[in-house]
Amino acid sequence: MSNGIWHERAATIKIDGRAFINGERVPAKSGATFDNISPVNGKKIGDTARCDSADVDATVLIARAAFDDRRWAGKSPSERKKVMLKFAELIRVHGDELALLETLDMGKPIKYSLSVDVPSTARCVQWYAEAIDKVYDEIAPTNDQTLALITREPVGVVAAIVPWNYPMIMASWKIAPALAMGNSVILKPSEKSPLTALRLAEIALEAGIPAGVFNVLPGFGHEAGSALALHNDVDCIGFTGSTRIGKKIMEYAGQSNLKRVWTELGGKSPNIVCADCPNLDEAVESAIGSIYFNQGESCNAPSRLFIEESIKDEFIAKALALIPSFVPGDPLDPNTVMGAIVDHIQLNSVMGFIDSGKAEGATLLAGGHQSRTESGGYYVEPTIFADVNPSMKIVREEIFGPVLSIMTFTHLDHAIREANNTAYGLQAGVWTSDIRKAHHAARSLRAGTVHVNQYDNDDMTVPFGGYKQSGNGRDKSLHALDKYTELKTTWINLA
Ligand code: NAD
Repeated sequence: MSNGIWHERAATIKIDGRAFINGERVPAKSGATFDNISPVNGKKIGDTARCDSADVDATVLIARAAFDDRRWAGKSPSERKKVMLKFAELIRVHGDELALLETLDMGKPIKYSLSVDVPSTARCVQWYAEAIDKVYDEIAPTNDQTLALITREPVGVVAAIVPWNYPMIMASWKIAPALAMGNSVILKPSEKSPLTALRLAEIALEAGIPAGVFNVLPGFGHEAGSALALHNDVDCIGFTGSTRIGKKIMEYAGQSNLKRVWTELGGKSPNIVCADCPNLDEAVESAIGSIYFNQGESCNAPSRLFIEESIKDEFIAKALALIPSFVPGDPLDPNTVMGAIVDHIQLNSVMGFIDSGKAEGATLLAGGHQSRTESGGYYVEPTIFADVNPSMKIVREEIFGPVLSIMTFTHLDHAIREANNTAYGLQAGVWTSDIRKAHHAARSLRAGTVHVNQYDNDDMTVPFGGYKQSGNGRDKSLHALDKYTELKTTWINLA
């Protein structure tokens, strides 16, 4: 494919930022909109409906009615499965369009929108579709005179509030298990990246998910998001986003109807490379590839790297040799691997962290500047700091950008202690040829996922989520179904 083809398509693609409620595209009730600015070039690409509490109230009524009349929950598992399989198929059919919208909206390279985001979203929907008719209810072992049935029922109206870094994938991790179990869903995408969520809902309708069951309200967090989290007739929130807002969502639930709240929050993941790691080149490629993937805008990015002192120089030399292959490029060029930062707010935040690293005395080994400023978009060079200490802001706080902080250690236990010295607990990595050291580290690291001699492996079959302030509950895998179901016990007197 020629480099210009995605620019040609971008010039003609339809951008529709209106809400999707009850099977229809509609403006916000107030008529208000805000500009959708593409981080690729800083230009406006469309208007987004600015939904607020009035839209939330109306949509909750619609989603509740859809739930109560059982137009979706009342279908047999095999019928729901068929529709959701069609939904997954149509995501693939519309893959080029969805990929282009994702890239224009949030700046990731088209290469990855096509090869990662679209297929992962389709796979997630397909995976939960296939799970639908494999979920059995139970009979509890009681006695001959009574029957105790334990059945799973949908929670009701589920609000999914998601971030901008993987807009489609994050949405699919919530909506697919929630829809699979028969809930009605209201999705609130990030104000920075609403486009693919809105198209997903249209595609779901095309697949046969009844109107009113899957609705999308674009808008700001403090308006549409908080109204959903405070609503007394929303039964459950599936939230992915920052720890700061995750805490607010839990407060809102406490202030309203104590809705179930599931949170997938921030991270500051450690990656520990021992001198006896099986293959240093692989460890370097993985460490660098994982921190710069998605411009560093990944919750599980291994942003704190601990290297055993004796291999520090060799590791750093190899890492620096890889930096040129991560220079930011035009996200619409199929060869680009590092795209744009989502918006000017995030750009300023990342640059602020880089300035603080310099000011606090860390050694800047690579990057540290904006790039491609002539494009009008928001780009940051792949950045590495060494001589970093644990009290520095770049080590303590989630940057959510292409910035790696390197520390060294001489004893594995010290590295583990420092790795755990964080409010977060999403993921961790350890590289060693010694199975005893690997097992000891894996057991000691306080994180929802630990990678041994790899980083960033992923599959729908495994749970994804965090310890500590990285959240509660788990996305993906059969465990996610628990978040969107209630367990009901029914006693039947047989005597
Ligand atoms: P954010 O917390 O700012 O926003 C997330 C969502 O919450 C958005 O839709 C936003 O509009 C909404 N929101 C904001 N304020 C709100 C409020 N007062 N009430 C209700 N909703 C509100 O996060 P972000 O900047 O969009 O995303 C980045 C964060 O997401 C990072 O911290 C990252 O680590 C985290 N993340 C976590 C995971 C995971 O699985 N653990 C995955 C991806 C991203």
